[in-house]
Amino acid sequence: MTILVTGGAGFIGSNFVLDWLAGSDETVVNLDLLSYAGNLRNLASLQGDARHVFVKGDIGDRALLDGLLAEHRPRAIVHFAAESHVDRSIHGPGEFMRTNVMGTFTLLEAARGHFATLQGDAKSAFRFHHVSTDEVYGSLGPAAPAFTEQHVYEPNSPYSASKAASDHLVRAWHHTYGLPVLTTNCSNNYGPYHFPEKLIPLMIVNALAGKPLPVYGDGLQVRDWLYVGDHCSAIRTVLERGRVGETYNVGGWNEQANRDIVLTICALLDELRPDPAGPRARLITHVADRPGHDRRYAIDARKIERELGWRPAETFATGIRKTVQWYLDHADWVADVQSGGYRDWMSKQYGGG
Ligand code: NAD
Repeated sequence: MTILVTGGAGFIGSNFVLDWLAGSDETVVNLDLLSYAGNLRNLASLQGDARHVFVKGDIGDRALLDGLLAEHRPRAIVHFAAESHVDRSIHGPGEFMRTNVMGTFTLLEAARGHFATLQGDAKSAFRFHHVSTDEVYGSLGPAAPAFTEQHVYEPNSPYSASKAASDHLVRAWHHTYGLPVLTTNCSNNYGPYHFPEKLIPLMIVNALAGKPLPVYGDGLQVRDWLYVGDHCSAIRTVLERGRVGETYNVGGWNEQANRDIVLTICALLDELRPDPAGPRARLITHVADRPGHDRRYAIDARKIERELGWRPAETFATGIRKTVQWYLDHADWVADVQSGGYRDWMSKQYGGG
């Protein structure tokens, strides 16, 4: 048996591929364009493992998709590939429309063609799992109840608008063409192999280098945070037991203000690798807020708990400690991803290296 994973060299996708192959003999065909965010070093432990078939390519390439589906005949497609960084979507929304909207459309069309060729048990077992975000729901007031699956879609950034569009396409391909889809909308992930342009890894690598820790605005923006391993287990659960056509919210029951996340990271680093120059919190620097920055996201994950029995295994305290330790133990990975392209982006964004 085979599954096709898109974007499996990125942060969550690579964690998912490693997690999947640790518990299964199935083949994973991993289609990834290797954009700036894709990194085969994340999958170095799979070198020589015949169960992992890596294909460098674009989800927008219909001929490539048709060829892969005909050759490997996967029982499921798990779709991670996307442009995923809100700040980049503000500077250059075009790539987000091309990959997240048109790429998902092309993948859905290819999946529809593949599904039409399946028969019997293979047809009933086939699933298209779309990995999405809680950002499609927009921003919550401080006392508003957390997002349920019934919450209205109110995306505010080019990134979240492109993901909202892709969610709607997936829904429509189910209702119109009968494609057996599943969608998960997850909160912010953190953990190993997270590209250091996102809040948590950026703060860890900057703090270790004694560089400023740039916090947007007052730092009181609230997010729910989930350890990436728990997101992977949620996707596996939904893929195996979720009801076709349904969406499931996935979250960690862990709302934190950005400023508190940064203070936690500083305290952990001070404990695990003390800085002779003093506590790292001295490096916190408030910078101009992101335009249209959503104030609060919170996920109500009771549906996936009630229907499928999934709950996160990590608390924030255990997950963030593991994560900080992982970055301390993987200085070579950090050095590798901090290439020239990374430095150019950081200097455009924050005016410094
Ligand atoms: P990422 O940016 O780390 O990885 C994206 C991967 O997709 C990269 O490996 C990249 O090379 C690949 N890719 C980009 N364009 C492609 C294309 N046209 N064809 C093939 N591959 C392409 O992203 P991530 O943080 O791992 O997020 C994965 C998915 O999960 C995304 O769909 C994202 O919207 C969703 N998600 C992310 C979070 C989070 O906190 N990171 C939370 C919820 C949902």
